[in-house]
Amino acid sequence: MKTIYLDNNATTAIAPEVREAMLPYLGELYGNPSSMYSFGGQVAEAVDTARGQLAELLGASPEEIIFTSCGSESDNSAIWTAVRTQPEKRHMITTRVEHPAILNGMQHLENQGYRVTYLGVDNKGRLDLDEYAAALDEDTALVSIMFANNEVGNYYPIQRMAEMAKERGILFHTDAVQAVGKLPINMGSMPVDMLSLSGHKLHTPKGIGALYVRKGVRFRPLLRGGHQERSRRAGTENVPYIVGLGVAAQMAATHMQQESAAMARLRDRLEHGITNSIPDTIVNGDPENRLPNTTNISFKNVEGEAILIMLDRMGICASSGSACTSGSLEPSHVLRAMGVPFNYAHGSIRLSLSRYTTEEEVDFVIQHFPQIIATLRKISPFKD
Ligand code: PLP
Repeated sequence: MKTIYLDNNATTAIAPEVREAMLPYLGELYGNPSSMYSFGGQVAEAVDTARGQLAELLGASPEEIIFTSCGSESDNSAIWTAVRTQPEKRHMITTRVEHPAILNGMQHLENQGYRVTYLGVDNKGRLDLDEYAAALDEDTALVSIMFANNEVGNYYPIQRMAEMAKERGILFHTDAVQAVGKLPINMGSMPVDMLSLSGHKLHTPKGIGALYVRKGVRFRPLLRGGHQERSRRAGTENVPYIVGLGVAAQMAATHMQQESAAMARLRDRLEHGITNSIPDTIVNGDPENRLPNTTNISFKNVEGEAILIMLDRMGICASSGSACTSGSLEPSHVLRAMGVPFNYAHGSIRLSLSRYTTEEEVDFVIQHFPQIIATLRKISPFKD
């Protein structure tokens, strides 16, 4: 059975070009980039090249890039630096729809006596700029707002929100794990102080990420030790993965415009194909400001996990909008924050495409979805 992979917001396939570029550094080029001899030097050069490639994608300078192990580490580093460089400030601003990599860090700070403002969203998952403006105050150490949401795909007015923070001299971080490579980002024109990204959403292997830190922003490392990454992140560099991330960034920079347009066309075909043939569905999210690869659809009176199991039997990989909390399936924090009605939220499915998704795959899914939902609705314990 062929796998139809529509869960690219969870992770992506490694691009053959990325794997190819990594191979020498998993073989003969195993030197330590910090060594003085030329065997290490050529590896250090590869790290520099990758840093340049990633900086280019972001419109940043190479010195502003710190390689990390993942998006979660980048997010934690941003929070840590804000706290450690401004111990007198005790207020943080974030949203109710962040990834746990931010939310759990914020909850930890709350337990330590910090005040945290969690901005709400409307039924399309949109933030309210007036609520945001009112939350900014003298005591705010950090604003951390995701660039794009992993579940429903909304992207937020980061340019404007960062400007508003800067007018008050407040540090601004964005978790751009889902946005990098799908949306154009130019740090040259966006007053964001720190930005997190993750390689495995961008066709590298899992276990590599980066944190952009604007020149001049005070920084405190989360990992202390050796002087790697200009003493901002200790640990011998993960050279093969860094090389892979550089190539992935270069590919994104070259092809993003055309790939994003192609993904959006297929995503729309998929979304319309499903919603036009199945009654009682809701598309979750902001149709005007949404990642080109993501759709999140709720089906009334069906259990999302049951849909996933039936899709899996056909080789289709997707993800549901539920999280297992204390043994029972609860709609995710994002769908709850949006106020999606309970009998819909339970039956939510996220389908996320990549540059490798084909029209044939999309049409296969469109063809089989109505039968799956009809079968499940027949046996559903939920009724109107
Ligand atoms: N932030 C967002 C928005 C994500 O979607 C993810 C992963 O799903 C992360 C952070 C965490 O990234 P990583 O898996 O590289 O730690």
